[in-house]
Amino acid sequence: MSQHQSLADNLLRNSITRRQMLWLLGASALSGCASSPVGSGSILVGMSEDEEKAVDQKVAPQQFSQDLGAVQDAPINQYLTEVGQRLHSKSHRPQMPYSYRVLNANYVNAYTFPGGAMGVTRGILVDLDNEAELAALLGHELGHVNARHAAQRQGTAMVTQVAMTGVNIIGAVAGVGSLTDIGTQLGASVLLASYSRDNEREADSLGQEYMVRAGYPASGMVGLQQLLVDQQKESPGMLKTMFSTHPMSSERRDTARQLAESKYAASNTRDAGRDRFLDNTASLRRIKPTIDACQKGEVAMAGKAYGKAEEQFRTALKATPRDYAANVLMAKCLSVQDKDAQAMEYAQTATKIYPQEAQAQKMVGILALGQKDPAKAYEHLDRYDRLMPGDAGVTFLKGVSLEGLGRQQEAANQYAAYLKRTQKGKAAEYSYSRLQSWGYVK
Ligand SMILES: [Zn+2]
Repeated sequence: MSQHQSLADNLLRNSITRRQMLWLLGASALSGCASSPVGSGSILVGMSEDEEKAVDQKVAPQQFSQDLGAVQDAPINQYLTEVGQRLHSKSHRPQMPYSYRVLNANYVNAYTFPGGAMGVTRGILVDLDNEAELAALLGHELGHVNARHAAQRQGTAMVTQVAMTGVNIIGAVAGVGSLTDIGTQLGASVLLASYSRDNEREADSLGQEYMVRAGYPASGMVGLQQLLVDQQKESPGMLKTMFSTHPMSSERRDTARQLAESKYAASNTRDAGRDRFLDNTASLRRIKPTIDACQKGEVAMAGKAYGKAEEQFRTALKATPRDYAANVLMAKCLSVQDKDAQAMEYAQTATKIYPQEAQAQKMVGILALGQKDPAKAYEHLDRYDRLMPGDAGVTFLKGVSLEGLGRQQEAANQYAAYLKRTQKGKAAEYSYSRLQSWGYVK
């Protein structure tokens, strides 16, 4: 008897395990990566502006969700947007549809999609000292968009890999494979932030130009680079992707300083906006211990030290029980240790804190399937699907849930929809076998 037939039997007896289900999906996820979702294989080479915008629309929402979504705090996102607008209005491509959000991710980084959708992690925001440093960070990111670095990248490797991150959410949520692979977890953010050295130099140079045009002191770029140099020295093992992907910080700092003292010398009498920055970011800096604990927990998870990770997340939750990120991370940490019932509690709390964030919905859905509760699973997977349409893995899981509920026709629709997206892999085989045994295909 083939593997998928025995799984089918298990499913009929409603005894499919979460691991079996994920095994099905894991295999399909791999085969699904081979083709680029964005169309032709050469899309990144000489991308048109429309194509750049299309990449944003297709991939950015998934990546932001994977980075635990935007901080649900309108004033702080508004503040970031205002600083960004001041800068991009002085850039070479002011017409691009820039957008700015502070992400709940705890690692230190910022990244931007080629159409201008930018994410700044709360991890880096709480480390900055003033608005000029923030302007330097946003200016650098705008530099990449304006110099169209993503469009120049060779081949389709980036887009293919970025698209994979969407698929990988399943593994990451449920705690198999990619969960512990931090490179995968960081997904597109690493790819987007890992430009060539020349690209980095150019982005620095453009960023400093924009910030000076926007009224900031050029020394802000020196401050930002110094911060990265210091952090690299302090905690080289941390998940500080800003400098693993943005190397040669001291060289970049020296260049920024040189320019600040010569070409842009006149700008340095300007106000760096320290008070304004501290006022506008106070809500995040108040929970810095939570952010730090989450960051340490994630590092421990990456090293498979789950007990230690759990301790850190517990510390974070003790300080800030209603922190969406800490609840999601705790759920992941418990799930990877097969403590599904406990994981469910934290995942559910996360959906209550941020009902509009997709990732926790999927986590509850998958955990509910593991707990043989297809009704609950379907409810949350469907909610995920509405928030983040187009995730083939979720289409399949909705089919499994509906089958568990005895809603055969609707399950068949989901399996058929899944097969439209991919014909390879165990989940596809499984879907096909169901359609076959129900008489939809011969
Ligand atoms: Zn960069």
